[in-house]
Amino acid sequence: MVVEVELGRVKRSGRPGAARGVAAEELRRHNLATVLEHLHLNGSATRSQLTSITGLNRSTVADLIGQLTDLGLVGEEQGGAISGPGRPSPVVYLKPEGAVVLAVEMSVDSIAVATVGIGGHVYNQIRIARPRGHFDPDTTMSDIAELARPLLGALPQGHNLAGAGAAVVGIVRQSDGFVHLAPNLGWRELPLGQMLADELELDVPVRVANDADLGALGEYRRGGLGGVRHLIYISGEVGIGCGVIANGRPLHGVAGYAGEAGHTLVNPDGLMCRCGATGCWETEAGEKPLLRRVPAVESSGLEAVDAVTQLAELGDKPTLRAIAETGTWLGIGISNLINLFNPEVVVLGGLYHRLFDYLEEAVGKGMERSLAAPRSMAQIRRSAIGANAPLIGAAELALADLIDNPAAVAAR
Ligand SMILES: [Zn+2]
Repeated sequence: MVVEVELGRVKRSGRPGAARGVAAEELRRHNLATVLEHLHLNGSATRSQLTSITGLNRSTVADLIGQLTDLGLVGEEQGGAISGPGRPSPVVYLKPEGAVVLAVEMSVDSIAVATVGIGGHVYNQIRIARPRGHFDPDTTMSDIAELARPLLGALPQGHNLAGAGAAVVGIVRQSDGFVHLAPNLGWRELPLGQMLADELELDVPVRVANDADLGALGEYRRGGLGGVRHLIYISGEVGIGCGVIANGRPLHGVAGYAGEAGHTLVNPDGLMCRCGATGCWETEAGEKPLLRRVPAVESSGLEAVDAVTQLAELGDKPTLRAIAETGTWLGIGISNLINLFNPEVVVLGGLYHRLFDYLEEAVGKGMERSLAAPRSMAQIRRSAIGANAPLIGAAELALADLIDNPAAVAAR
């Protein structure tokens, strides 16, 4: 994530002396964030590597490392390779206990909790399956708190809890974690961020976002995608979720409701969707239409998806045809996204991660209707993180505040 520094605006303020002070402070914060983010995403680096990567001079880098050391976020050890004359450059490493976050995921079939330190160090994680329909918000909050307590208790002594992040399968207002609508959980107008904060009783901010948006963030930051900066993540559970990273920045829209691609039109003559419209993408490419196309499976929910996966593994022809038909519709929706966003990578998570081997070819067929130029640049990939992508994204969301301004978070 690129930190924006609007130095120009600061310089145009009425008090030149004060403005220079503010600008210098902003610049220092930006530089600190740049060094910390590099270590967070790439691991340890020598001082001289940090100097050449950031383009800052040696004394500035030394000063920034000193500040990060004082904040308990990094340490240094000797042993860096000699790249020129003189002594080897010290290696700067992150101390994950210096900033730990609690990550939470609320999906249709399970809830999950993890403790994650800066640098992406996962201390512990746990996921429990829940029967569908058991979505009472208060019970869900207390279940999460019960899962979180032992994980928080097991963190190393002296750790610094910096925040909490939560992924939820719904339309979420980013500013305060208010869930406008989570149709597959039956939640509407729910102050989830506040409820989580109250239940967890942690003295840190709780950030909440849509699960697919956080799946995209998780894959972008931790999915081993190298220099990719334009990414679309598509998750399938009951509905279809979509998260977009454009030029390294998550695309949220005004309030955080962007990316509801599951409710875009693919078939005007199709079926009525839960949202009230007809022919939405998820009525053709979601879990329900997949199960509808596999008559051999009579169960529903996760059990049914397990049965479909097993039949596919056994090479059952009608099941493979059903998956292919669903995959073609998936590809048709992806072709719309490719035309709109020109991504480098489209990552398939959730249900599509599980069925990737059986879907991939059909998805390619469905994508043939997109424009040739953007299609030729878009790679379809199976999620590298798998089922935990939104959970890892929730940790990244909570850590982003710290990385953006480590001194302010430490002071808090
Ligand atoms: Zn819909």
